[in-house]
Amino acid sequence: MTWYTEQWSNECNFSIKYEKELHSEKSPFQQIDFYQGKEFGTFFTLDRLMMVNEKDEFIYHDMIVHPAFATNPNIKKVLIIGGGDGGTAREVLRYPSVEEVVMVEIDERVFRLCQEYLPVTAKGVEEDKRMELRFEDGLAYVKNAPDASFDLILVDSTDPISVGEGLFTTAFYQECYRVLNKDGILINQHESPYFAEYAENMRKARKKIKAIFPITNVYQYHMPTYPSGHWLFGFASKTFDPVKDIRVEDWKSFGLKTKYYNTDLHVGAFQLPSYVKEALETD
Ligand code: SAM
Repeated sequence: MTWYTEQWSNECNFSIKYEKELHSEKSPFQQIDFYQGKEFGTFFTLDRLMMVNEKDEFIYHDMIVHPAFATNPNIKKVLIIGGGDGGTAREVLRYPSVEEVVMVEIDERVFRLCQEYLPVTAKGVEEDKRMELRFEDGLAYVKNAPDASFDLILVDSTDPISVGEGLFTTAFYQECYRVLNKDGILINQHESPYFAEYAENMRKARKKIKAIFPITNVYQYHMPTYPSGHWLFGFASKTFDPVKDIRVEDWKSFGLKTKYYNTDLHVGAFQLPSYVKEALETD
């Protein structure tokens, strides 16, 4: 029995007790480690940062996927960038109306190891006939994708360091704008407002996206194992306002049971604390 410890800031660490280290390897892209513990079940880290665990993954995966579908229930073509654990694809594939999902994950080892150790997110994703799995850089993929070819882009990425850096650039957001159709929505992992380093990432991402998309918002969710527990997704669109345009009855008619997301929470999630609003508005 020992502890996995992650640095949340220069002055603050977070630790989880684990019973077993299940796997450890250095892929061509990053350090990958899988652990098994009692509180959070199986979890894995990339470059020593928590990615996904069995206990709270439902929060992240509900919130990255369902707000977009409740805003535009006619989404048919979805691009997922990153998301190698499969949890985002799993939630998207619950919509029978979705016709095609392209998932572009840079590191095939993340996907293969999650199939082995984390079936809660990975199981069944590869087998779904609507899925196209590609193991390549998401930035390179969007550069070559045709104009207006997706209804929804979900950026399920690591932080803006190492391989994830390109997914937080103006060039990437511009390509996303181009490959989205006129009703297109972009949802992206938008870091956290609390600890300084993450708050700076949040601010920079917001500024870049706001310069490109006519409608941009940020929404929050509670993620116990990410630094500070307070995390954000960005919502950017060419047409839809996620609060004014929410289609509550249409979303309910999908009949999906969700453990975290509901349409009341959807509206509330876009109402941010004052210090977060201020930070997002500061240049
Ligand atoms: N839920 C997690 C979080 O916010 O911490 C994200 C988990 S998901 C496993 C992140 C994935 O993004 C990783 O598997 C990583 O390999 C992938 N990724 C990072 N940069 C990428 C890039 N440029 N193109 C495609 N995938 C990328």
